[in-house]
Amino acid sequence: MRLWSRELWRVAWLATLGVLLGWALGAPGLGLAAGLAVCLFYHLRQLLALFQWLTLHPQDEPPSARGMWGELFDRLYRYQKSQRITQTRLRATLGRIQESSEAMRDSVVMLDRHGDLEWWNSAATEMLGLQTAHDRGQHITNLLRDPRFISYFNANQYSEPLTLTSPIDERQILQYQITLYGDDERLVMARDITRLHRLEQMRRDFVANVSHELRTPLTVLSGYLETYSDLSDQLPPRLGRGIGQMEEQTKRMQSLVNDLLLLSRLEIDQGGKDHQPLAVGPLLESIRQDALALSGQQKGGQVPSSQLHSIHVSVESEAQLVGSEQEIRSAISNLAFNAVRYTPAGSQITLRWANLENGSAYISVEDNGEGIDPVHIPRLTERFYRVDKGRSTATGGTGLGLAIVKHVLLRHDAQLQIVSRPGEGAQFRCVFPATRALVANTVF
Ligand code: ADP
Repeated sequence: MRLWSRELWRVAWLATLGVLLGWALGAPGLGLAAGLAVCLFYHLRQLLALFQWLTLHPQDEPPSARGMWGELFDRLYRYQKSQRITQTRLRATLGRIQESSEAMRDSVVMLDRHGDLEWWNSAATEMLGLQTAHDRGQHITNLLRDPRFISYFNANQYSEPLTLTSPIDERQILQYQITLYGDDERLVMARDITRLHRLEQMRRDFVANVSHELRTPLTVLSGYLETYSDLSDQLPPRLGRGIGQMEEQTKRMQSLVNDLLLLSRLEIDQGGKDHQPLAVGPLLESIRQDALALSGQQKGGQVPSSQLHSIHVSVESEAQLVGSEQEIRSAISNLAFNAVRYTPAGSQITLRWANLENGSAYISVEDNGEGIDPVHIPRLTERFYRVDKGRSTATGGTGLGLAIVKHVLLRHDAQLQIVSRPGEGAQFRCVFPATRALVANTVF
């Protein structure tokens, strides 16, 4: 305000001086005009100085001036200086980020909001074959053309990574992970997981081979043991008891080997070839019969029906389930047999096929047994995880049942939901997406 009033005073003073001089010469109007012209000339000169400074030497010190112009020059200079410092700092940060991304062994590709390539590191050049001059501005799906990558990219759901072979080297396995940031921009990261993949494959092959190799000796062992146990009345009682136990343990080993083989097959084989619409009612009925037989065996056979588990089938949906009969039977049987094994005789078990409101459908196995503490539920599908180790071994379980269920469901785009509380029974629900619940008259 002080500067502004001083500027006004300057104009007023020059105007008055002009009027006085003009009056002395007999032309006060001309004098006023001359005073104001001096004023205008001064401001035009400062404007020109400002223009020349900003356009020709913006880095130099500002031209010296007094009053408002001086203050304006100073402020502009200070502002410019702080902008330059911020810019240098930003450039250094950006440089450091690019340097560190450049040093990364993983590929990093920055995409704009349209999915066009903006920047990438040299690992991306090596792994994905991106060429600096040629590919900038291209859409990512023009360069990574695998249909699985395109649908992963377009789905906009990046919670899970995608594993594919490298577009330039088929022996290299890459894991892609996309992150959304800023204004719908995307960061594509690709990791070379060839070694890990190979190790995983070796582990799978090893388990499959060992299980396969163990099958024959176990068959021989169990064959001889069966023969000896037929002759057990001719053997001393201590030997007979031993043979009985050996037979029991060999059977356990056989079930373990069979479950391991099944799991390996589920992991190695892609699946989907034998998927067809299945009538769930008859399938559940036949599983019910097997579960009843197991319940009878547990009680030592030939028991009154009041001592068996009470098993019901409830078919509440008319839909057919699209899937592999063998795999679905194996998964639901595992759940039903668990329900028999982990609940006391006489307990109620229900096998249900029903629809959910969103069009999906589920098969559930519900029991009114002792239930499971919620702390164990997240880990139940891990291999060999058992709530009560002693009890599970006594019931003849292999510890792989729920792992098999999980794998089968994965191959059917389904999910396993477990709801249970101690003392309130357990419900194992296999939820299938609407696309797998085929209502009559729908063309498969
Ligand atoms: P296992 O061969 O030991 O039965 P599973 O993977 O089939 O292995 O099951 C894992 C564990 O889950 C079991 O050891 C058991 O403790 C628990 N479990 C499974 N089903 C039930 C059930 N219906 N009620 C209570 N516990 C259960």
